[in-house]
Amino acid sequence: MNDHGSMRTARRTHGFTESVIREMSRVAQEAGAINLGQGFPDFPAPAVLKDAACRAIQDDVNQYAITWGTPSLRGALARKYQDWYGMEVDPESEITVTCGATEAMASVMLGLVNPGDEVVVFSPFYENYGPDATLCGAEPVFLPLSPPEFKLTREPLEAAVTARTRAIIVNTPNNPTGRVLSRQELELIADVCRRHDLYAFTDEIYEHIYYEGEHIPLATLDGMRERTVTVSGASKTFSITGWRIGTIIAPSDLTGAIRKVHDFLTVGAPAPLQEGCAAGMRELGDEYYEGLAKQYRERRDVLHQAITEAGFRAVKPQGAYYIMADFSSLSDLDDDSFARHMTRNGGVATVPGSSFFQNPEEGRHLVRFAFCKTLEKLEAAGDRLRQFSRAGG
Ligand code: GLN
Repeated sequence: MNDHGSMRTARRTHGFTESVIREMSRVAQEAGAINLGQGFPDFPAPAVLKDAACRAIQDDVNQYAITWGTPSLRGALARKYQDWYGMEVDPESEITVTCGATEAMASVMLGLVNPGDEVVVFSPFYENYGPDATLCGAEPVFLPLSPPEFKLTREPLEAAVTARTRAIIVNTPNNPTGRVLSRQELELIADVCRRHDLYAFTDEIYEHIYYEGEHIPLATLDGMRERTVTVSGASKTFSITGWRIGTIIAPSDLTGAIRKVHDFLTVGAPAPLQEGCAAGMRELGDEYYEGLAKQYRERRDVLHQAITEAGFRAVKPQGAYYIMADFSSLSDLDDDSFARHMTRNGGVATVPGSSFFQNPEEGRHLVRFAFCKTLEKLEAAGDRLRQFSRAGG
């Protein structure tokens, strides 16, 4: 039975497609390819987090944590936002810990967006925002940004806002483009939000991984704290994507609604792992964060050089850990066919570019590489790519 016409499944799911990112991981596994598709690190997490999580399990921290997060982690988060960004955050009423930033964004939208509302999403985008809006009965309105700069300008942003707009989603540093929004672009978003009385829902999961500029939380701009919901998490900062620890900072009246949704969806995030994250946040200092960015810069440079030598064209990302690369001088295939072909015959998996665009045609000549991998693995991938290219792509 075709799911589309099926009476057996809910209509809200009928427009959803399977995650191309995770599908490519399966293709990679079948082909024994190096997986530079799905963005998960392949190197160890900091010992302080692992030790504290193990200790918590040994100490029988096995039951539900407080729904919105352990006091230890909320305390560490309040200190972090104060120390890093000068944001005053009340751990009692303004923080919610969730099962990953994925659940965070879904809970935020289900808590704050009404059916019939519109939510502005910049394209290209990370795959979840559109479906999150759909789950709310709202409509994602996609605003295309043009390569290679993907710069945000006033006119198209103003044009995307209607009387039904409820929120703008802002992901910086960006997956998949690697853009880090400038203060000027953030001021533009803030201005539009203030004038049209909109929320901004941010996804700042790559906040500590950038190579140029600075990471500025939108909530720190004038008049934005009260209308911004800041989503982030531990996955990328501590290389623990499987721990599923996400975080939400929101004004207390918004937090109340978000916490109710979060409670009904998941009750809470894993208690012992929250203890691990709290210890990491307490004990790791500047040196850790500087090291993280420095190592990622090295990985970026190694992969960028390798793919350039293999004939791809790509700008170096300013942040996050992905490179969107143009393969048109290597092949005339479309992105889906090319990504599968390169996985099977080149031994390196990527994600087809079209899965990040509202209009798939815009990504037909692109694939996304993830470089959250050891240098050895990136170098091995580089060898394979150069060989693949020499063999004719
Ligand atoms: N954030 C990671 C990526 O973009 C993993 C997401 C996923 O598995 N869907 O690759």
